[in-house]
Amino acid sequence: MREFAYERATDAGQAVTAVLADPEAVFLGAGTNLVDHLKLGITAPGRLVDVSRLPFDEIIERPGGGMRIGAAVRNADLAAHPLIRARYPMLSAALLAGASAQLRNLATTGGNLLQRTRCAYFQDPSTPCNKREPGSGCSAIGGCDREHAVLGASDQCIATHPSDMAVAMAALDAVVRVLGARGEREIPVTRLHRLPDAEPDRDTVLEHGDLITAVELPALDWARRSTYRKVRDRASYAFALVSVAAALDLADGVVRDARIAFGGLAHKPWRAYDAEAALRGKAATEANFAAAAEAELAAARPQRQNGFKIPLARGVLVATLRELTEQESR
Ligand code: SF4
Repeated sequence: MREFAYERATDAGQAVTAVLADPEAVFLGAGTNLVDHLKLGITAPGRLVDVSRLPFDEIIERPGGGMRIGAAVRNADLAAHPLIRARYPMLSAALLAGASAQLRNLATTGGNLLQRTRCAYFQDPSTPCNKREPGSGCSAIGGCDREHAVLGASDQCIATHPSDMAVAMAALDAVVRVLGARGEREIPVTRLHRLPDAEPDRDTVLEHGDLITAVELPALDWARRSTYRKVRDRASYAFALVSVAAALDLADGVVRDARIAFGGLAHKPWRAYDAEAALRGKAATEANFAAAAEAELAAARPQRQNGFKIPLARGVLVATLRELTEQESR
């Protein structure tokens, strides 16, 4: 492992300045992903700027009913927060579906958003990978692609995004607050992560020195009827083959509005705008749920080994919407 300089930031401005001053510097939060990468030789920064002691560990109710979540809030604390559980159950469920209890106790909100793909080739420095080493090729294309993307992939990279939490935040129209070279700005979670296109090494739209300080959840009363469903190869401590975050606004058996995002299908949390549009104003029936899934998945393109993800995604979405409909009628 390459030697690196270490410094602990005492405030956010100082942290940003320190990283901006050194092109080889990165932020260190809980380190649950970065430290793995250091050990595997996936990344070799020259400087770690530790932001884990910055005062971003509060969950605050905002005027009007939304919530502000500090970037350093631990995943376990966010999942267990009474207002998160009551107002945004899909977010609590998504957090609890991720990682292990030990990791959730350590991992932070900001770090969870920025975790990198678990593509096995990305994690193996002996294989070509355009994300790890631009221009080297993509070993997954024509290789083991069972867990890879069916939506939004490119001929440079077919990796999926691993976060469960980010899928729920995309469905909820959460907004990320960022401090960087140009001061503070806001980025919707739906626009934070990129599709791979010709630059798969860039996971997000963040620039060098950008520090996530908080995530804001807008008020959404009907998100009380929401959930997160995840399908994976084993019951815990595994990444999603397919996951769905969904909320339904129902009145007299008709869908007034819906929020849907998929995980495990793309290089980013996949907000299912076409499925949402297909549902609005329709009766909450199994046939309409299936039609909404078809509307979203019409653009899906399987790799060699992961064609199963498309009918699986359809089935998981229909089952999730059925579950929410039954919740509503209780
Ligand atoms: Fe690398 Fe992406 Fe190809 Fe995986 S899918 S080997 S991350 S370029």
